[in-house]
Amino acid sequence: MKYEGRREKMVRTQIEARGVSDPAVLRAIRKIPRHRFLPEAFQDQAYDDCPLPIGHKQTISQPYTVAVMTEALGLTGRERVLEIGTGSGYQSAILAELAEWVYSIERIPELAKSARELLDELGYDNVAIRVGDGTRGWKSEAPFDRIMVTAGAPKVPEPLLQQLGEGGRLVIPVGDPYTQTMTRVTRRGSEFQHESLGAYRFVELIGEYGWDK
Ligand code: SAM
Repeated sequence: MKYEGRREKMVRTQIEARGVSDPAVLRAIRKIPRHRFLPEAFQDQAYDDCPLPIGHKQTISQPYTVAVMTEALGLTGRERVLEIGTGSGYQSAILAELAEWVYSIERIPELAKSARELLDELGYDNVAIRVGDGTRGWKSEAPFDRIMVTAGAPKVPEPLLQQLGEGGRLVIPVGDPYTQTMTRVTRRGSEFQHESLGAYRFVELIGEYGWDK
């Protein structure tokens, strides 16, 4: 109950007040127990207006950032979505509420394992998680209707563009390691339209088509 009240306040003051209005996105954020995706020591801060540590030098994104990125995908419930950077599994759960299938890739095996266990416990049976380098995408399951990258990239990884279906959308923070522009790419045939959705700061996307480790 304590957490439900905090979650409602978070949605109203951090997310709706800043302009996110897609009812399905707001419903998913209202439903999912964000505190469960955090280490016990940080559960009390789960509904604060900031990113938080999830171990292995990684973070769960600020609630508003999750809301903006999710809204930018424009989900209808019928999509197959590829997520790069499973992390805690929180964003995967949001996507699982709003799409048909979620394919999520995480490079750190321990994070992938704990996300899998929690998503199973919460009953999400439309999320597939794989350990690996997400900058290469998930070729055997392509094309995807939507792709979301939740780590900062030096450029849009070419394999992700190739694995985006016709009319598909890809949302990814692109820039240097300190600041990135949230970028939405829409595929129209062989054309890729780019839009900028503001400045953010993410942990690095590490991999063949990302930053070197
Ligand atoms: N979406 C996550 C959540 O809701 O908790 C937060 C993701 S965190 C900001 C970024 C994640 O991307 C980290 O867990 C990191 O290990 C992962 N990552 C970085 N480079 C990656 C890559 N090439 N492939 C897959 N995951 C990667």
